[in-house]
Amino acid sequence: MDRRNFSKKMMMAGLAVPAANSSFSDPDEQSSIKEDVRNLPVREFDVVVAGGGTAGVVAATAAARNGAKTALLEGKGYAGGTVVEGGTALHSFFNLWKAFPGVEKRQVVKGIAQEIIDRLLLIGGTTGHGDVTGKIDYDCVCTAIDTELYKLVVMEMLSEAGVSVFTNTLVAGAVKKGASIDGVITQSRMGRELFRGRCFIDSTAYGDLSAYAGAEFKELNDHPVCNSMGLGNVNIEKMYTYLMKNNALGDIAWGLRDGKEDQIIRFGSESGYTIRGRLPQEFVDGVVKLGSGLITTTVHDNYLMFIKVNYKMPVSPTNRDEVAKAELLIRQNQYKTLELFRKYLPGCENAFIARTSPSLNIRRGRTITCDYDISLSDIIEAKHFEDEIMVYGFHDSAPRYQVKNGGTYGVPFKALCVRGIDNLLAAGMLITTDFQAHMSTRNTVCCMGQGQAAGTAAALCAIRNIGTRDLKYSELRKALEDGKVYFEN
Ligand SMILES: Cc1cc2nc3c(=O)[nH]c(=O)nc-3n(C[C@H](O)[C@H](O)[C@H](O)COP(=O)(O)OP(=O)(O)OC[C@H]3O[C@@H](n4cnc5c(N)ncnc54)[C@H](O)[C@@H]3O)c2cc1C
Repeated sequence: MDRRNFSKKMMMAGLAVPAANSSFSDPDEQSSIKEDVRNLPVREFDVVVAGGGTAGVVAATAAARNGAKTALLEGKGYAGGTVVEGGTALHSFFNLWKAFPGVEKRQVVKGIAQEIIDRLLLIGGTTGHGDVTGKIDYDCVCTAIDTELYKLVVMEMLSEAGVSVFTNTLVAGAVKKGASIDGVITQSRMGRELFRGRCFIDSTAYGDLSAYAGAEFKELNDHPVCNSMGLGNVNIEKMYTYLMKNNALGDIAWGLRDGKEDQIIRFGSESGYTIRGRLPQEFVDGVVKLGSGLITTTVHDNYLMFIKVNYKMPVSPTNRDEVAKAELLIRQNQYKTLELFRKYLPGCENAFIARTSPSLNIRRGRTITCDYDISLSDIIEAKHFEDEIMVYGFHDSAPRYQVKNGGTYGVPFKALCVRGIDNLLAAGMLITTDFQAHMSTRNTVCCMGQGQAAGTAAALCAIRNIGTRDLKYSELRKALEDGKVYFEN
């Protein structure tokens, strides 16, 4: 058996598979034992959502609201995913209008994503949608969140929608029946179980369920991994005054902070991740070497929500052993970053690490092959589709790449249909192969929109007992519009 077939067999049996470019020794050379064949307890659902992160919580909420008995399987102890662990702000509910004179600012993503923000607003858990101003005039709206209150709000919304949430439950395999998934094998402290369903959603970010089910995927390893930390005890105004005086701010946003309006809610560096201006060279060299950034947000006085510390792994981050090494290195670099901030940034003299992510954040792990692969030209040419399930108007590499005329492009339903599997949809950062196209579709708000579409479609398919490709678009569209999803016409 060659390595490829071995990997595929292991995946379908729900066992760990080393990445093709990993430093594992070849599994054929490892000693191995046969696991006991066991009878697994079976739980029955209409829709099973694997991964309760940015896209997954929205998917499960949408599926349950559309009448499906829904299970959400999440490996960690809470729902939320990378949006509460990695990113800076939710990008973006709005079009990129600033570079196009005469084009209006428009909110182009609504639905459940906006509902989460509305709920956060009620408890002081977001800055709201604050306009960004500064040297870089593309990153037009910053919606920052309190990561802990986000976890609370989405867990409440899932519960209110009637979703059965299974936290601390790892998706560990898939059982197939022909070209369909019959059930998801999980591992938790309650042992191994089978979650049977009619329609499944892979929102694990890494595409674990798709891979276990034998779908095609790529591991491009074209981004650094990261662990974002929150810094407490920071004097925001003092830091702002210093950065402004030294011409070191690329952009800034103003919005709600601890209930007060027109407060600083975002610092952006002058150029990408580096901090230039007239800051001490030792500081600039230090943070660049450590992979640390100054782009950050704040929802509370005295707190910087996300300071990213990046590291480019030599192999794919599906390689558990290399990830363990990267976790240590990044945590060491987080402490070194803190020391530099304390020493060189007025306002941070007494800062401390108040929060880190429980595990590495990833910008992409596996990319799952779907019926359609959104291209960069689809995005920059503002292409719309007959089966589109949302529109989106943000690109992370603006102003280099903008959506034509400050408009929107459509995300087609076929971009969520996992190739070769009849009842599996993908939602989140795991779709879109092209690096620059992914720099748009991977953003949180796009992932959330995909989640609402996948959840709604999965519910309709499960209730009608049909495959994802047999769903009538008119029905899906109506259900999405009923769910307050925004379309251009
Ligand atoms: C460092 C960094 C900075 C970023 N900055 C921004 C930004 O400023 N603005 C922005 O809009 N976007 C940003 N992004 C991108 C964005 O945050 C992500 O692309 C998006 O949140 C991904 O959503 P997702 O639902 O695909 O995955 P996630 O939110 O990661 O959700 C996946 C979930 O699946 C769970 N899971 C995984 N495997 C299993 C399994 N086998 N069993 C059970 N559960 C499993 C995970 O625990 C997680 O909860 C950033 C990303 C990173 C990494």
